[in-house]
Amino acid sequence: MTEPARILVVGGGYVGMYTALRLQRQLSAELRAGTAEIVVVTPEPYMTYQPFLPEAAAGSISPRHVVVPLRRVLDRCRVVIGEVRSVDHAKRTATLITLATEEEGTGSVEMTYDELVIAPGSVSRTLPVPGLADHGIGFKTVEEAIGLRNHVIEQMDIASSTRDPAIRDAALTFVFVGGGYAGVEALAELEDMARYTARYYHNIKPEDLRWVLVEASDRILPEVGEDMGRYAIRELRGRNIDVRLETRLESCEDRVAVLSDGTRLPTRTVVWTAGVKPAPVLAATDLPLNERGRLRCTPQLAVDGAEHAWAAGDAAAVPDVTSEEPGKECAPNAQHAVRQAKVLAENVAASLRGQPLKEYAHAYVGSVASLGLHKGVAHVYGRKLKGYPAWFMHRAYHLSRVPTFNRKARVLAEWTLSGLFKREIVSLGSLEHPRAEFELAAAPPPGDGDKPQS
Ligand SMILES: Cc1cc2nc3c(=O)[nH]c(=O)nc-3n(C[C@H](O)[C@H](O)[C@H](O)COP(=O)(O)OP(=O)(O)OC[C@H]3O[C@@H](n4cnc5c(N)ncnc54)[C@H](O)[C@@H]3O)c2cc1C
Repeated sequence: MTEPARILVVGGGYVGMYTALRLQRQLSAELRAGTAEIVVVTPEPYMTYQPFLPEAAAGSISPRHVVVPLRRVLDRCRVVIGEVRSVDHAKRTATLITLATEEEGTGSVEMTYDELVIAPGSVSRTLPVPGLADHGIGFKTVEEAIGLRNHVIEQMDIASSTRDPAIRDAALTFVFVGGGYAGVEALAELEDMARYTARYYHNIKPEDLRWVLVEASDRILPEVGEDMGRYAIRELRGRNIDVRLETRLESCEDRVAVLSDGTRLPTRTVVWTAGVKPAPVLAATDLPLNERGRLRCTPQLAVDGAEHAWAAGDAAAVPDVTSEEPGKECAPNAQHAVRQAKVLAENVAASLRGQPLKEYAHAYVGSVASLGLHKGVAHVYGRKLKGYPAWFMHRAYHLSRVPTFNRKARVLAEWTLSGLFKREIVSLGSLEHPRAEFELAAAPPPGDGDKPQS
């Protein structure tokens, strides 16, 4: 019996999940007949709907509902929880580590494939800022979003109970670096949540909290255009948020954020959202990369010059065929990632069947951004919206986009309930240390080691 043709999908994010989902439909006959198999390798058993992370941080959506369980959705694929460490495409082999290889201590294992779909996305693009690696917090994963929420509320608890004004000021100062949608939405949602939460503290007023947005260029939210970006700045400044344009974070050692304009901000919170760079695994492949480390791709989403290798999303430099500007690439965003995944899956299936391939063509339609509860900004299909209508559009758009009916229903239920009841203000930071309580209970009482055993 011949081996099934193996399609290896690296990454279970937007591109990985949507490609595998479409492939399992397109190749249902081959999967049933056992002539093809789809293997998805991903470090987490879920796909994260990243545009909902700011709302998860604000407590408007629970963390479980911003992720989609891959095993349920990809029921005809093999999902392997692990990480691809390198790819030797010439030999059609990927090296990976899985939870099992770690447990067994056997090191990495090799997996051969016939077709490769490589979609590991991107990671935070950091700069060599002193102290950043030790004190910075990212905002790309659900763990980071929930960790940040817990951290902000914990800082309010510290500020409320300390007698030291310096500790109080540092605890109540929150610095966000990067004015794209991730940074602005995260800051705006958390500020809104903290402002509300302050009413439950007898000694913290919303004005005591200091929120600073540091942006190196002269504008924020480039995704919604210049006018709406300016409106967003006015709206944030109106809430007493200190927006610093053309300013950079120079260092954040010893819990002091030093800005390029000379400002020194003692703080325990530096959130880094200053852009992304392609996932590091790409450098450990024999596939062609461009000068920014993205995989060089054709408009058909094949990796340039490499047969049977395909890519899309943040990791891929896909030519924007709708642009008149020569050499323009599709921006790293979900709008492209979802649409590219559809074409990519169709092209993989077509190539297996010897059929012609399609080109990926999508003109950017604009963007929507939330600036907290009932506040937002949008520039979509040439229409500019702000305030409540933009916020409503943001919610309606993302509700229509979040994968699976199950997640749509749960998110809608949560939004409806949060409209009826008060906002959640609880911090569950102790979830990050689930054994702490038991370790304390199981530890011998202090000084017990000196007592004779009876
Ligand atoms: C806070 C935030 C808000 C955003 N809001 C918007 C928005 O409003 N609109 C918009 O258009 N875009 C938005 N984006 C961007 C959008 O989420 C990304 O462009 C999109 O996720 C890219 O899809 P992808 O499949 O390339 O990468 P991802 O969705 O990031 O998926 C990559 C996957 O690959 C996995 N992986 C990484 N390395 C390996 C490896 N070595 N082996 C196996 N698997 C690996 C990762 O764990 C992940 O599961 C937002 C992003 C963030 C962080």
